[in-house]
Amino acid sequence: MKFGGTSMAGTERIRRVANIVRKQAAGGNEVAVVVSAMAGETDRLVNFCREANALYDPAEYDVVVASGEQVTSGLLALTLQSLGAKARSWLGWQLPVRTIEAHAKARIADIDGDELTASMKAGEIAVIPGFQGLSDDGRITTLGRGGSDTSAVAVAAAVKADRCDIYTDVDGVYTTDPRIVAKARKLKAVTYEEMLELASVGAKVLQTRSVGLAMKEGVRVQVLSSFVGDDAVPADELPGTMIVSEEEMNELVEKGLVERQHVTGIAHDKNEAKVILTRVPDKPGAVAHIFEPLAKASINVDMIIQNVGRDKGETDVTFTVPQADLARAQALLEDKRDDIGYNRLITDSKIAKISVVGVGMKSHAGVAATMFQALADRGINIQAITTSEIKVSVMIDEDETELAVRVLHTAYGLDAADEAA
Ligand code: ADP
Ligand code: ASP
Ligand code: MG
Repeated sequence: MKFGGTSMAGTERIRRVANIVRKQAAGGNEVAVVVSAMAGETDRLVNFCREANALYDPAEYDVVVASGEQVTSGLLALTLQSLGAKARSWLGWQLPVRTIEAHAKARIADIDGDELTASMKAGEIAVIPGFQGLSDDGRITTLGRGGSDTSAVAVAAAVKADRCDIYTDVDGVYTTDPRIVAKARKLKAVTYEEMLELASVGAKVLQTRSVGLAMKEGVRVQVLSSFVGDDAVPADELPGTMIVSEEEMNELVEKGLVERQHVTGIAHDKNEAKVILTRVPDKPGAVAHIFEPLAKASINVDMIIQNVGRDKGETDVTFTVPQADLARAQALLEDKRDDIGYNRLITDSKIAKISVVGVGMKSHAGVAATMFQALADRGINIQAITTSEIKVSVMIDEDETELAVRVLHTAYGLDAADEAA
């Protein structure tokens, strides 16, 4: 069971979580719980790091930001004990959760589940702070924002759990962010592949890596709400959204339990920035010169467009990078100006990426055309387009994000039927 920040915000809510956990344990289940820091806490800690040193050392940043989850794991163990349950916390370095790669965005390499399993067998509820791990050289690491989801899936895999229930502040995965579209519909099930794609293009309900890990390890994941009143759901009921394999999805569709749509969901991402290089020489190697320094600096480039070469053998190249990396990208490109040979470097952070995702696209033509037409009808200008087998993304002006999501939700027939009608 994993509980997110909103569910852990304050002792009252932690008591509610403790009740949900205790009921699952009382129902005869062995339970491990992964918790997030209280809502807003990680942001607060990140700000302290920025104030202390704008060019902070990621290893020390990890020491600071990992503390939020230490607090909530101890508090949940205490609350469970106050309700008469046996419980203890297991910090990332105690299990340990071994991680590799960079501080502040570490990846889980391995969790030894033996001690956890033994303690759970002995009737103890294991409480594990999400988001944190231990590096090869014995230092605290964190997994990147939203990383507690990944901790939960990794723990579930390590103890061979029957299921990993991700409790959050919405009662499942919806056709789009229910905070933007009131008519968004809750999905009974979504495939790993679609969820992976939705998460990677901005549906923050699950961290992308958690979905990739669940898919790889075959962990059964359910997303559900922790705001359920006093009657926690019995473990054998599935009120939320199940993340399933394509075979399972086909079975659900055949049984008439799930309706297959061409588009499953719509996501938006306001965290990217656009970079344009004008009058780049239109010859072999020019584009490589642009992207090589960015790759070396671990800056992820997403959408890329190279316009058709104009006269004088020149072309414009447009691409997106995470907003957080824009300043670094700009500095690197200015540095390489002579090597690349461009004329102007133009940037814009006021953009958004809107994506429609669905496995139904593989076998159905016209999904992209519907998107372009629906946006055109509302006068929304498309600045760039990318596609994959099960996704179409467009770049638009950031101010038009909410409108675009609503318009597309309606265009693909995803709106929930009006209750009153
Ligand atoms: P937690 O703190 O529990 O990890 P998050 O804030 O990380 O919760 O994720 C839950 C939020 O994700 C919801 O409140 C919702 O606004 C947002 N969200 C975005 N896209 C979707 C979607 N397709 N379905 C459900 N929630 C979504
Ligand atoms: N507390 C961390 C964050 O806010 C991890 C998480 O909640 O998943 O990013
Ligand atoms: Mg989250």
